[in-house]
Formats: sequence, structure tokens, C-alpha cells
Amino acid sequence: MNCIELRNVVKRYGNVTALNNVSFAIECGERVALLGPNGAGKSTTLKLIVGLLKPDSGEVLVKGLEPISIQARRIIGYLPEDASPYLMLTVRENLEYIASLRGVDNVKERVNKFLELLALKPYERNRVMSLSRGNRQKLSLALALIHDPEILLLDEPLNYLDIPTQERIISLFNSMTNATILVSTHIMSIAGRLANKVIILSGGQVVWQGNISDLRKFGEENEPVESIV
Ligand code: ATP
Repeated sequence: MNCIELRNVVKRYGNVTALNNVSFAIECGERVALLGPNGAGKSTTLKLIVGLLKPDSGEVLVKGLEPISIQARRIIGYLPEDASPYLMLTVRENLEYIASLRGVDNVKERVNKFLELLALKPYERNRVMSLSRGNRQKLSLALALIHDPEILLLDEPLNYLDIPTQERIISLFNSMTNATILVSTHIMSIAGRLANKVIILSGGQVVWQGNISDLRKFGEENEPVESIV
């Protein structure tokens, strides 16, 4: 079953065509990297899937549903590129609020689990405005994962994180074996650690999609992959 599907999607911002006839399908349980340079249309693609934007034409489906529906939202965990947790609330308050909003059972228990998992326990009483970029990013990740979503949409999830924390987060994603993951990145090596399939966007169009192991072949037959991403 397809968990995510885009059919001939066009998205414009005024005169700028961010996505130009994009189609792809991701089966439930797959891990896919959305790879491409700045401005390729990666963030726009994720925003369409989560229902924050509507396509100008074409269709976006999440498990066969329009993303705007409540059911689609409940099953999605979305990490925006520049996520902004509530600055005036503490780390714990942010987590408890979002967990309650998403109908999580045993909110306190779940929040404690994520504080531990992301090494945020020492900061639980700190307001977000006082946190480092790295700790804000960890909190944003916790907020995306707190309701145990079936589908994870992650926009540059390793931004602002130091190398040991990046490794910890990569292990966390790799332990979520039942989840469907679509991760946006412009870094090939990150794609290789998090996904086994790749969709390459360039100038708002899909220029290649397939298994990550075949990507090198594509690079040899075309311009080097490193120059695309
Ligand atoms: P980045 O990694 O830089 O965020 P991206 O691959 O995620 O790049 P998008 O952010 O989806 O790309 O942007 C695709 C195109 O749409 C770019 O040309 C960008 O300038 C434009 N764009 C994105 N958001 C807006 C907006 N709100 N208003 C106008 N143009 C926009």
C-alpha cells in the first residue's frame, strides 16, 4: 500500500514554480530521502504532504486520504526545517501540550521517555527561548515523534546537531522499523544513513528516483551526483 503519493503536482508561489509536475509513490514502511540542492522544492513537497500547502494542480494523498483530513494529520509526524517550538513555554510544557493535543495516552510517561531519549532531561524546566539551536532541534524532533506517528516527514533533521547527537538521532530513526520515513536533505551521506531509496529533485522536478545502491550508476552516466546535491 502507498503511504504517500503525489500525482502530477504543480505548486507555484506567485511567479515561481516550486514544483512542476511531480509524481512519486512511497510504500508504507519505506525509507526515502528527498535529495536536492537549495530551492529544489524539498520543503514545499513536505508541506504539501502534511497539508500546510495545497497543490495548484495534481493530487497529494496520504494513505489514500487528503492530507488536510484529521486522520492524515494524526498519523504524520512533521519536523519543519526551521521548527519553532513555543518560545515562552518550557521544554516539558511544549512536549506535554503537543502530546495532549495529539491525543497521546499517558502523557507524562511519554514525555519522560522523550526527555531521556533526546538527552533533554537537564533542560526540562528551561524555557525554549533560552535553549541552544541544537537543543531546540532535539525538542522539535521530540515534538514530531511524541505521538508515535506512522509516517515521518523530516526536513533537514540533523541541522544544528553535533556529530555524537547526529549519530544518536540516526540510531533512533533506524530503530523505528515500522515507520515510513521521508527525509529531506541536501547531503548525500545523510541520505545514505537514513534511507534506502532516493528521490532527487532539481528545479522543482524529479530528475531521478530509485534505490540508493543504484545512485552511483546514475552519477556515472550523468553529471556527478555531488554536483546535483
Ligand atoms: P531549501 O533547502 O533552500 O529550503 P528546498 O529544496 O526545500 O530548498 P523550497 O523551499 O521548497 O526548496 O523552495 C522551492 C522554490 O520555491 C524556491 O525557488 C524558493 O525560493 C521558492 N519558495 C519557497 N517558499 C516560498 C514562499 N513562501 N514564497 C515564494 N517563494 C517561495
